[in-house]
Amino acid sequence: MHTGLNVAKFGGTSVANYQAISNCARIVVGNANTKVVVVSAAAGVTNFLVLLANTALTSEQIAEIIDNIRKIEYAILNELKKPSEVEDKLFALLDELESYARHEEINFRDDLKDSLLSMGERMSSLLVSAVIREQGHNAINFDVRKVLRTDNRYTEATPDIEVIGQLSQQLLRPELDDAIVVTQGFVGADESGKTTTLGRGGSDFTAALLAEALGAETCEIWTDVIGVYTTDPRITDKARPLPELSFEEAAEMATFGAKVLHPATMEPALRQNIKVFVGSSKEPEKGGTWIVRDCEHEPAFRAITRRKDLVLVTVKTPKMMYAQGFLARVFDIIAKHKLSVDLITTSEIAVSFTLDNPPNSISEKMNKDTLLELSSICEVKVERDFDAVTVVGNNMHSAAGVSSKIFAAVADFNLRMICFGANVHNLSFVVDNHASEDVVKVLHAALFEE
Ligand code: ADP
Ligand code: ASP
Ligand code: MG
Repeated sequence: MHTGLNVAKFGGTSVANYQAISNCARIVVGNANTKVVVVSAAAGVTNFLVLLANTALTSEQIAEIIDNIRKIEYAILNELKKPSEVEDKLFALLDELESYARHEEINFRDDLKDSLLSMGERMSSLLVSAVIREQGHNAINFDVRKVLRTDNRYTEATPDIEVIGQLSQQLLRPELDDAIVVTQGFVGADESGKTTTLGRGGSDFTAALLAEALGAETCEIWTDVIGVYTTDPRITDKARPLPELSFEEAAEMATFGAKVLHPATMEPALRQNIKVFVGSSKEPEKGGTWIVRDCEHEPAFRAITRRKDLVLVTVKTPKMMYAQGFLARVFDIIAKHKLSVDLITTSEIAVSFTLDNPPNSISEKMNKDTLLELSSICEVKVERDFDAVTVVGNNMHSAAGVSSKIFAAVADFNLRMICFGANVHNLSFVVDNHASEDVVKVLHAALFEE
């Protein structure tokens, strides 16, 4: 245990330009416990890289997209006091980026895609370390691939906690004695050293994983909002920041769509009891949300989240009533394809469940294979364009009047599925994607605006 150690993570908007990075650098040097800094790609860059990775483009189109990326990086480079210190490295990274983007198999090979997708973080970590040095502190750019071991499920790799722990102690810990270590979020490497990524938004997860590996006491997630809110402040301006949250509530919110935290972020925090702070790098003085094991208050309603792009799958066999092993076989197939099912309802002859289906994700591909295999044992119906709206809170199963309050609020909406989660922290609805925003607003008004 490194007493007091803090890992600070800065998201895309926090490192979008020189001014924003300067704010981050001030936050870093303002806390002597912050020895590890995890950065995302500058805002917009990963989206451009995803476009390059997944779209068949002409040479001119590729050039145009790379030019957009170059402009973002150069704008930062050119404001450095001594750009010459890092410019050769940045140019080399941009050349490397271009070589992946122009690889003839880029659209077909996930390993190449990951090498390309990692470039945003590799460039921003170089630039952020330079800005911290400008403020008079020793900072190094550390290649996270040396320690962040994952499997080889490219584009959505799973970290190997044990190996990450060992490698971090061996290779990262010694660096903390002399310098602030700036490293890449989102990126990892498999056993053979090939670059992997953790899935979109994965930098939060990286920060938590490194905090765990180094025995840190706290992990700060610096972003563009002053904490975790009662709901996405982009959906309603009535949303308000929460001073505290429990690990379980935060995990539930992240799993059910609160983009402010990657869904896996709370796993390492929970395992090692690491306090997680969420705040705005633009307005650090405004404070933020502390996510901790034990909260002072455990209100019935804490927040409302929305998760988009779900597919609703109904499997049905008239023989189900008699076929005892049916459900087991359905879930075997799902597990084999490593898909996770969050919401599920069953009746005597049918089971409905939702699958995550973000565009361009590995799940999209897995879903196809899974559905094909399922249709060999039963009737399968697939419906798209659904979102899940989830109320996160405490003791929702047992507290009197809790569910009736929720149901009264959404009485006018067509709810396709209603599920209490496997634990006491959530109640979810599957609704048409056009209605989900209104469902959130109506629920927010009923539960938080009285
Ligand atoms: P970063 O690039 O820093 O990782 P993200 O865009 O991934 O930032 O996450 C921050 C965004 O998450 C906010 O701008 C906000 O719109 C969205 N968000 C969704 N749900 C919530 C919530 N409950 N509280 C705060 N922000 C939320
Ligand atoms: N840059 C990656 C993304 O945009 C990871 C992250 O920002 O967390 O998804
Ligand atoms: Mg994020």
